[in-house]
Amino acid sequence: MVPKNSSYRGRLAPSPTGLLHLGHARTFWVAQERARAACGQLILRNDDLDTARWKLDFVDAMLEDLRWFGFAWNEGPDVGGPHAPYEQSRRGAHYAAAFERLRASGAIYPCTCTRRDVQQALAAPHESAHAPNPNDEPVYPGTCRPENLSAEENAKRAAWPRDGVNWRLRVPDGAEISFRDGHFGEQSATAGREFGDFLVWRKDGVPSYQLACTVDDAEMRITEVVRGADLIMSTFRQLLLYRALDATPPAFFHCPLVNDEHGVRLAKRHDALALRTLRAQGKTPTALRAEWK
Ligand code: GLU
Ligand code: ZN
Repeated sequence: MVPKNSSYRGRLAPSPTGLLHLGHARTFWVAQERARAACGQLILRNDDLDTARWKLDFVDAMLEDLRWFGFAWNEGPDVGGPHAPYEQSRRGAHYAAAFERLRASGAIYPCTCTRRDVQQALAAPHESAHAPNPNDEPVYPGTCRPENLSAEENAKRAAWPRDGVNWRLRVPDGAEISFRDGHFGEQSATAGREFGDFLVWRKDGVPSYQLACTVDDAEMRITEVVRGADLIMSTFRQLLLYRALDATPPAFFHCPLVNDEHGVRLAKRHDALALRTLRAQGKTPTALRAEWK
Protein backbone atom coordinates (compact mmCIF):
# COMPACT_ATOMS: atom_id res chain seq x y z
CA MET A 1 0.00 0.00 0.00
CA VAL A 2 1.24 3.43 -0.91
CA PRO A 3 0.29 6.00 1.68
CA LYS A 4 -1.91 8.78 0.35
CA ASN A 5 0.42 11.68 0.03
CA SER A 6 0.05 14.34 -2.59
CA SER A 7 3.74 15.21 -2.32
CA TYR A 8 4.53 11.88 -4.02
CA ARG A 9 6.55 12.35 -7.20
CA GLY A 10 7.29 9.37 -9.39
CA ARG A 11 8.88 9.12 -12.80
CA LEU A 12 9.05 7.18 -16.04
CA ALA A 13 12.55 7.32 -17.50
CA PRO A 14 12.68 5.54 -20.85
CA SER A 15 15.77 5.60 -23.04
CA PRO A 16 14.92 6.15 -26.71
CA THR A 17 17.39 3.51 -27.87
CA GLY A 18 14.69 1.36 -29.46
CA LEU A 19 10.98 0.80 -29.50
CA LEU A 20 9.16 0.49 -26.20
CA HIS A 21 7.97 -3.00 -25.52
CA LEU A 22 5.73 -4.80 -23.09
CA GLY A 23 8.52 -5.26 -20.55
CA HIS A 24 8.94 -1.49 -20.24
CA ALA A 25 5.20 -0.95 -20.16
CA ARG A 26 4.79 -3.36 -17.29
CA THR A 27 7.31 -1.60 -15.06
CA PHE A 28 6.02 1.83 -16.08
CA TRP A 29 2.49 0.73 -15.27
CA VAL A 30 3.52 -0.08 -11.73
CA ALA A 31 5.13 3.36 -11.52
CA GLN A 32 1.95 5.03 -12.76
CA GLU A 33 -0.30 3.03 -10.45
CA ARG A 34 1.82 3.89 -7.44
CA ALA A 35 1.76 7.59 -8.32
CA ARG A 36 -2.03 7.41 -8.77
CA ALA A 37 -2.60 5.52 -5.54
CA ALA A 38 -0.65 8.22 -3.73
CA CYS A 39 -2.53 11.00 -5.55
CA GLY A 40 0.90 12.16 -6.64
CA GLN A 41 2.59 13.45 -9.75
CA LEU A 42 4.18 11.45 -12.52
CA ILE A 43 7.15 12.89 -14.41
CA LEU A 44 8.31 11.71 -17.82
CA ARG A 45 12.02 12.04 -18.36
CA ASN A 46 13.66 11.32 -21.68
CA ASP A 47 16.91 9.51 -20.87
CA ASP A 48 18.55 10.41 -24.16
CA LEU A 49 22.00 10.82 -22.66
CA ASP A 50 23.63 8.33 -24.97
CA THR A 51 23.48 10.44 -28.11
CA ALA A 52 25.26 7.78 -30.14
CA ARG A 53 22.48 5.29 -29.53
CA TRP A 54 19.27 7.25 -29.59
CA LYS A 55 17.46 8.31 -32.68
CA LEU A 56 14.97 11.09 -33.03
CA ASP A 57 12.42 8.72 -34.52
CA PHE A 58 12.40 6.71 -31.34
CA VAL A 59 11.56 9.77 -29.23
CA ASP A 60 8.36 10.44 -31.17
CA ALA A 61 7.50 6.76 -31.19
CA MET A 62 8.14 6.59 -27.46
CA LEU A 63 5.71 9.40 -26.63
CA GLU A 64 3.08 8.01 -28.96
CA ASP A 65 3.39 4.45 -27.67
CA LEU A 66 3.23 5.60 -24.05
CA ARG A 67 0.05 7.57 -24.69
CA TRP A 68 -1.51 4.74 -26.65
CA PHE A 69 -0.89 2.34 -23.80
CA GLY A 70 -2.61 4.66 -21.35
CA PHE A 71 0.18 6.58 -19.71
CA ALA A 72 -0.29 10.21 -18.75
CA TRP A 73 2.22 12.48 -17.07
CA ASN A 74 2.11 15.81 -15.29
CA GLU A 75 5.56 17.02 -16.34
CA GLY A 76 7.68 16.00 -19.28
CA PRO A 77 9.47 16.97 -22.49
CA ASP A 78 6.20 17.62 -24.33
CA VAL A 79 4.27 19.36 -21.53
CA GLY A 80 7.09 21.16 -19.70
CA GLY A 81 7.06 21.78 -15.98
CA PRO A 82 9.00 23.44 -13.16
CA HIS A 83 12.08 21.24 -13.60
CA ALA A 84 12.45 21.57 -17.38
CA PRO A 85 14.22 20.51 -19.47
CA TYR A 86 13.10 16.90 -19.14
CA GLU A 87 15.55 15.58 -21.75
CA GLN A 88 18.88 14.45 -20.39
CA SER A 89 20.61 15.63 -23.56
CA ARG A 90 19.65 19.18 -22.56
CA ARG A 91 20.69 18.95 -18.91
CA GLY A 92 24.45 19.06 -19.38
CA ALA A 93 24.87 22.12 -17.14
CA HIS A 94 23.24 20.29 -14.22
CA TYR A 95 25.56 17.31 -14.58
CA ALA A 96 28.61 19.55 -14.98
CA ALA A 97 27.74 21.39 -11.76
CA ALA A 98 27.41 18.09 -9.90
CA PHE A 99 30.71 16.94 -11.36
CA GLU A 100 32.47 20.06 -10.08
CA ARG A 101 31.07 19.51 -6.59
CA LEU A 102 32.31 15.93 -6.62
CA ARG A 103 35.73 16.98 -7.82
CA ALA A 104 36.02 19.81 -5.30
CA SER A 105 35.27 17.45 -2.43
CA GLY A 106 37.72 14.81 -3.63
CA ALA A 107 34.96 12.23 -4.09
CA ILE A 108 36.12 11.36 -7.61
CA TYR A 109 39.42 10.82 -9.39
CA PRO A 110 40.52 10.53 -13.01
CA CYS A 111 41.17 7.05 -14.38
CA THR A 112 43.22 6.24 -17.46
CA CYS A 113 42.60 2.51 -17.41
CA THR A 114 41.11 0.98 -20.50
CA ARG A 115 38.35 -1.57 -20.31
CA ARG A 116 41.00 -4.20 -21.00
CA ASP A 117 43.27 -2.99 -18.19
CA VAL A 118 40.36 -3.36 -15.79
CA GLN A 119 39.44 -6.82 -17.04
CA GLN A 120 43.02 -8.03 -16.78
CA ALA A 121 43.53 -6.74 -13.25
CA LEU A 122 40.41 -8.49 -12.04
CA ALA A 123 40.45 -11.24 -9.51
CA ALA A 124 37.65 -13.82 -9.60
CA PRO A 125 34.33 -12.02 -9.22
CA HIS A 126 32.89 -11.98 -5.73
CA GLU A 127 29.62 -13.65 -4.92
CA SER A 128 26.66 -11.31 -4.79
CA ALA A 129 23.08 -12.06 -3.91
CA HIS A 130 21.90 -9.45 -6.39
CA ALA A 131 20.87 -10.17 -9.94
CA PRO A 132 23.78 -9.54 -12.31
CA ASN A 133 23.22 -6.91 -14.94
CA PRO A 134 25.21 -7.24 -18.14
CA ASN A 135 25.61 -3.46 -18.10
CA ASP A 136 27.24 -3.58 -14.69
CA GLU A 137 30.85 -2.52 -14.48
CA PRO A 138 33.38 -4.98 -13.11
CA VAL A 139 34.74 -4.16 -9.64
CA TYR A 140 37.48 -1.63 -10.37
CA PRO A 141 40.84 -2.69 -8.89
CA GLY A 142 41.75 0.82 -7.76
CA THR A 143 44.78 1.27 -10.02
CA CYS A 144 44.25 5.03 -10.44
CA ARG A 145 43.30 5.82 -6.86
CA PRO A 146 45.53 8.70 -5.75
CA GLU A 147 47.18 6.61 -3.01
CA ASN A 148 48.35 4.17 -5.67
CA LEU A 149 50.06 6.85 -7.75
CA SER A 150 53.21 8.86 -7.24
CA ALA A 151 53.10 12.43 -5.95
CA GLU A 152 54.26 13.62 -9.37
CA GLU A 153 51.52 11.74 -11.13
CA ASN A 154 48.90 13.08 -8.74
CA ALA A 155 50.15 16.63 -9.23
CA LYS A 156 49.94 16.19 -12.97
CA ARG A 157 46.42 14.78 -12.79
CA ALA A 158 45.18 17.56 -10.52
CA ALA A 159 45.47 19.89 -13.52
CA TRP A 160 43.52 17.69 -15.91
CA PRO A 161 40.31 19.10 -17.35
CA ARG A 162 37.03 17.26 -16.92
CA ASP A 163 36.68 15.94 -20.45
CA GLY A 164 39.15 13.60 -22.10
CA VAL A 165 39.54 11.15 -19.24
CA ASN A 166 37.21 8.88 -17.28
CA TRP A 167 36.33 9.85 -13.71
CA ARG A 168 35.35 7.42 -10.97
CA LEU A 169 33.66 7.82 -7.62
CA ARG A 170 35.65 6.28 -4.82
CA VAL A 171 33.48 3.84 -2.87
CA PRO A 172 34.07 3.18 0.83
CA ASP A 173 35.67 -0.27 0.76
CA GLY A 174 33.98 -2.75 3.03
CA ALA A 175 31.04 -0.49 3.88
CA GLU A 176 27.61 -2.12 3.85
CA ILE A 177 25.25 0.01 1.76
CA SER A 178 21.60 -0.73 2.37
CA PHE A 179 18.10 0.47 1.67
CA ARG A 180 14.57 -0.82 2.17
CA ASP A 181 13.09 -1.65 -1.18
CA GLY A 182 9.35 -1.09 -1.50
CA HIS A 183 8.95 -4.46 -3.19
CA PHE A 184 11.89 -6.65 -2.20
CA GLY A 185 12.43 -5.39 1.35
CA GLU A 186 15.81 -4.90 2.97
CA GLN A 187 18.67 -4.83 0.43
CA SER A 188 22.35 -4.49 1.06
CA ALA A 189 25.65 -4.79 -0.75
CA THR A 190 29.27 -4.39 0.28
CA ALA A 191 31.10 -1.54 -1.43
CA GLY A 192 34.44 -2.56 -2.90
CA ARG A 193 33.31 -6.18 -3.16
CA GLU A 194 30.01 -6.35 -4.99
CA PHE A 195 30.65 -3.09 -6.81
CA GLY A 196 33.70 -0.89 -6.98
CA ASP A 197 34.72 2.65 -7.90
CA PHE A 198 32.33 3.43 -10.72
CA LEU A 199 32.27 5.85 -13.63
CA VAL A 200 30.64 9.20 -13.13
CA TRP A 201 32.04 10.97 -16.18
CA ARG A 202 33.23 9.46 -19.42
CA LYS A 203 36.22 10.63 -21.35
CA ASP A 204 33.96 11.48 -24.31
CA GLY A 205 32.49 14.25 -22.15
CA VAL A 206 29.25 12.49 -21.26
CA PRO A 207 28.16 11.86 -17.65
CA SER A 208 27.49 8.27 -16.69
CA TYR A 209 23.97 6.94 -16.29
CA GLN A 210 24.60 6.78 -12.53
CA LEU A 211 25.41 10.48 -12.26
CA ALA A 212 22.73 11.75 -14.64
CA CYS A 213 20.05 9.63 -13.02
CA THR A 214 20.98 10.72 -9.50
CA VAL A 215 21.21 14.41 -10.38
CA ASP A 216 17.86 14.34 -12.17
CA ASP A 217 15.97 12.32 -9.57
CA ALA A 218 17.32 14.65 -6.88
CA GLU A 219 16.69 17.92 -8.74
CA MET A 220 13.28 16.84 -10.00
CA ARG A 221 12.36 16.05 -6.41
CA ILE A 222 11.42 12.46 -7.16
CA THR A 223 10.19 10.84 -3.95
CA GLU A 224 10.03 7.25 -5.22
CA VAL A 225 11.95 5.58 -8.04
CA VAL A 226 10.10 2.63 -9.58
CA ARG A 227 12.18 0.56 -12.03
CA GLY A 228 13.27 -2.94 -12.92
CA ALA A 229 15.10 -5.22 -10.50
CA ASP A 230 18.07 -5.30 -12.88
CA LEU A 231 18.92 -1.84 -11.54
CA ILE A 232 19.22 -2.81 -7.86
CA MET A 233 23.02 -2.80 -8.08
CA SER A 234 22.83 0.67 -9.58
CA THR A 235 20.79 1.83 -6.61
CA PHE A 236 23.70 1.12 -4.24
CA ARG A 237 25.96 3.22 -6.43
CA GLN A 238 23.42 6.00 -6.67
CA LEU A 239 22.98 6.02 -2.89
CA LEU A 240 26.69 6.81 -2.62
CA LEU A 241 26.24 9.63 -5.11
CA TYR A 242 23.36 11.09 -3.08
CA ARG A 243 25.68 11.00 -0.10
CA ALA A 244 28.55 12.63 -1.97
CA LEU A 245 26.24 15.33 -3.34
CA ASP A 246 24.63 15.87 0.04
CA ALA A 247 21.18 15.13 -1.40
CA THR A 248 18.31 13.16 0.12
CA PRO A 249 17.69 9.89 -1.71
CA PRO A 250 14.17 8.93 -2.78
CA ALA A 251 12.49 5.66 -1.82
CA PHE A 252 13.07 2.77 -4.23
CA PHE A 253 10.65 0.20 -5.55
CA HIS A 254 12.16 -2.38 -7.89
CA CYS A 255 9.84 -4.50 -10.02
CA PRO A 256 10.54 -8.19 -10.55
CA LEU A 257 11.82 -9.00 -14.02
CA VAL A 258 9.37 -10.94 -16.12
CA ASN A 259 10.10 -13.86 -18.43
CA ASP A 260 8.01 -14.98 -21.35
CA GLU A 261 6.70 -18.52 -21.76
CA HIS A 262 10.12 -19.64 -23.05
CA GLY A 263 11.95 -18.22 -20.05
CA VAL A 264 13.38 -15.33 -22.06
CA ARG A 265 13.44 -12.04 -20.18
CA LEU A 266 10.72 -9.78 -21.47
CA ALA A 267 13.16 -6.89 -21.43
CA LYS A 268 15.29 -8.71 -24.01
CA ARG A 269 12.52 -9.30 -26.50
CA HIS A 270 12.42 -5.97 -28.23
CA ASP A 271 11.11 -7.38 -31.48
CA ALA A 272 7.88 -9.30 -31.06
CA LEU A 273 6.70 -7.48 -27.98
CA ALA A 274 7.18 -3.93 -29.22
CA LEU A 275 4.07 -1.93 -28.35
CA ARG A 276 3.88 -0.86 -32.03
CA THR A 277 3.79 -4.44 -33.19
CA LEU A 278 1.13 -5.44 -30.68
CA ARG A 279 -0.93 -2.42 -31.65
CA ALA A 280 -0.64 -3.29 -35.36
CA GLN A 281 -1.83 -6.77 -34.51
CA GLY A 282 -4.99 -5.27 -33.08
CA LYS A 283 -4.17 -5.89 -29.42
CA THR A 284 -5.59 -3.38 -26.97
CA PRO A 285 -3.84 -2.04 -23.86
CA THR A 286 -6.70 -3.32 -21.71
CA ALA A 287 -6.32 -6.84 -23.06
CA LEU A 288 -2.54 -6.72 -22.71
CA ARG A 289 -2.79 -5.56 -19.12
CA ALA A 290 -5.37 -8.23 -18.34
CA GLU A 291 -2.67 -10.84 -19.06
CA TRP A 292 -0.59 -9.45 -16.19
CA LYS A 293 -3.16 -10.38 -13.61
N1 GLU B 1 16.77 5.19 -18.86
C1 GLU B 1 17.15 4.21 -17.91
C2 GLU B 1 16.83 2.84 -18.46
O1 GLU B 1 15.98 2.73 -19.30
C3 GLU B 1 16.40 4.51 -16.64
C4 GLU B 1 16.71 3.62 -15.55
C5 GLU B 1 16.05 4.12 -14.29
O2 GLU B 1 14.83 4.03 -14.20
O3 GLU B 1 16.77 4.59 -13.43
O4 GLU B 1 17.43 1.86 -18.13
ZN1 ZN C 1 42.38 3.63 -13.80
